[in-house]
Amino acid sequence: MASGAGIEVVFLGTSGSVPTPERGLPCIAIRRRGELLLLDCGEGCQRQMMRAGVGFAKRMKVFITHLHGDHVLGLAGLLQSMGLMGREEPLPVYGPRGLARVVEAFKEALGFELPFRVEVHEVGEGEACRGDGYRVEAVFVEHSVPTLAYALIEEERPGRFNPERALKLGVPKGPLWKALQMGEAVEVGGRLVKPEDVLGPPRRGLKLVYSGDTGFTEKLVELSRGADLLIHEATFDDSLEHKALEEKHSTARQAATVAKLAGVKKLALTHISPRYQDPSLLEQQARQVFEHVVVAYDFLKLNLVYED
Ligand SMILES: [Zn+2]
Ligand SMILES: [Zn+2]
Repeated sequence: MASGAGIEVVFLGTSGSVPTPERGLPCIAIRRRGELLLLDCGEGCQRQMMRAGVGFAKRMKVFITHLHGDHVLGLAGLLQSMGLMGREEPLPVYGPRGLARVVEAFKEALGFELPFRVEVHEVGEGEACRGDGYRVEAVFVEHSVPTLAYALIEEERPGRFNPERALKLGVPKGPLWKALQMGEAVEVGGRLVKPEDVLGPPRRGLKLVYSGDTGFTEKLVELSRGADLLIHEATFDDSLEHKALEEKHSTARQAATVAKLAGVKKLALTHISPRYQDPSLLEQQARQVFEHVVVAYDFLKLNLVYED
């Protein structure tokens, strides 16, 4: 799956604030075309990666939503472990202002040298980076410290190839078909055949959004528009809505409301307060608003696939 079409999402830590015997601290692995993207780095994330069989890809990027310990303390261990494993490829790490100081502090206080370069990018709203056929956009959400939500947005894919049409235009099956599928015009018998002659309309790519820690905000609704998957924190249930408001977190119902307003396909709730040993209450309350919801648990895998 990881090297094939689509996106694989692996939840490596789904608790909020403190870990529990069942749930690690926030970390989500995204595998796409051989690249690994990590969303947040809760403590012990590298061990969770091993247990999940996610691997430490050469092509890897890390996105930190905010500088609360439960989301960033795992970065120290991850960097050190990857150093000891002999990583040489640079590692880009994205996050809000202050992240560079945190990484420097880890290295200085703990006195470790790394055999690879950590490229810290302190980002704000807008495009955080571009990758192989995608971009990552960030917005500030509603939390007690500057916190970014991230959207991974794939570029449009070429339209569906029409073989009958290609044959009719005299293009024989083989490398010329491949060229047309890749968007190149080809010459057949002195005549030019263009990709648009044999391809259907461009097809949309996948979109995935991660909220970080946040209270309800319209900005997240905007960012999540039409997403295939929204991963949203759901720290509390309805009875603790006042606490959610006070601490700038969300209830499961509020997360579901974002999903509904944004018209996403699927919602995964994470950052579950340790008080919920059984999270079915959160799922029930969310489901009253938005049907396609799952409460994430450690090592849950979700596959996002193309529908056309
Ligand atoms: Zn948190
Ligand atoms: Zn937080």
